[in-house]
Amino acid sequence: MSKIQMKTPLVELDGDEMTRVLWPLIKEKLIEPFVDLKTEYYDLGIKKRDETDDQITIDAAKAIKKYGVGVKNATITPNQERVEEYGLKKQWKSPNGTIRAMLDGTVFRKPILVKNIEPAVKSWKKPIAVGRHAYGDVYKNAEIKTKTGGRAEIVFTDTKGNEIRETIMELTGPGVIQGMHNTNASISSFARACFDYSLEETVDCWFATKDTISKKYDQTFKNIFEEIFEKEYKNKFKTAGISYFYTLIDDVVARMMKTEGGMLWACKNYDGDVMSDMVASAFGSLAMMSSVLVSPNGYFEYEAAHGTVQRHYYKYLNGEKTSTNAVALIFAWTGALKKRGELDDLPELSLFSDKLEKIIIDTIEDGYMTGDLAAICHPPAKKVLDSTQFLDTLAQRLKEVL
Ligand code: NAP
Ligand code: MG
Repeated sequence: MSKIQMKTPLVELDGDEMTRVLWPLIKEKLIEPFVDLKTEYYDLGIKKRDETDDQITIDAAKAIKKYGVGVKNATITPNQERVEEYGLKKQWKSPNGTIRAMLDGTVFRKPILVKNIEPAVKSWKKPIAVGRHAYGDVYKNAEIKTKTGGRAEIVFTDTKGNEIRETIMELTGPGVIQGMHNTNASISSFARACFDYSLEETVDCWFATKDTISKKYDQTFKNIFEEIFEKEYKNKFKTAGISYFYTLIDDVVARMMKTEGGMLWACKNYDGDVMSDMVASAFGSLAMMSSVLVSPNGYFEYEAAHGTVQRHYYKYLNGEKTSTNAVALIFAWTGALKKRGELDDLPELSLFSDKLEKIIIDTIEDGYMTGDLAAICHPPAKKVLDSTQFLDTLAQRLKEVL
């Protein structure tokens, strides 16, 4: 069999710890035997980031802007412990944060479903994707803790020096005050990213805020979504046979528990933070959650939703076998290859990715899986595999199919 040829390289962003161990194995066992893999490699491992004063992260984001599609491994976001562990110059920023800021994107996370792992919510049959606005609100706020009573005010000074001033509360004793913001530009690109994702995946888009209480802040989100939908997406949605549904955040939570899933749930920043963890764990495991950053300029970055699986890495360093689940990492590769196939008009590349994804699902459904899934699957696993055995099983099955 001749290998599938690629036209444009994928931007490959390597990472840290256990996922760095799995990364080359995935390429070597599952992709390179079948695809003449072209990548532009950026080492985002913590040592290289430290060595380059994090320039490597910026270069990688620029490369994604140049080529359009990236695939990223999990990376350490250093805290003080990591600074000591790796002898770092400083606590470098989160690479995901840096890349997100440069590509101006929305993060979409979607669980990978298998029949032998039942969602905790019985009615859920299809995956619920969560689209999280990753800018502003409580994540970029200012807070004051007062020791006494007094007047809490919110002040805006425009570029000409004119002030708008509102009283929040006359406090009669000590309290807490919070100020936060968002921008029309960011909300608009969030809305477009969600609508584009819905079209791409042919799923309905649900969005909710608390606009009845927050009549300026949350209502701006509601209005921008509505305006952009009416002007730019209504007809496209009609053609695709999908719909846009807006309701209140508490109503959406109640309704979500009674649906069979299969929609995109667009979430404001905080709602997305909380709800994506709930959705992931209700569907089974973080290792079965795929994630993609979609930018309004047509750039895509695929990754796994989980981190570097540090605990497993220390076992690995001790010479122990680990049963780390590589599914979300493999889906990052297949997602990126599929997107490359679509952009470069290489249907065989997309087809290959679909086949690999199907083999993963079939293998798990046949009872062969890593320990994290074996702990929650019914009927019980036929065989619990370590990280490498699982990849070898997939490779063997892939050879048989292709
Ligand atoms: P984590 O890597 O997601 O792992 C947390 C726990 O979840 C693991 O200890 C493991 O549980 C389970 N788990 C996660 N992925 C798994 C997989 N593929 N297979 C099997 N089990 C899996 O989170 P963390 O340990 O809190 O963070 C480690 C590092 O990752 C941190 O330095 C953090 O900065 C970084 N991080 C990076 C990203 C990213 O790059 N996108 C995201 C999150 C965290 P058991 O130990 O019980 O088996
Ligand atoms: Mg969270």
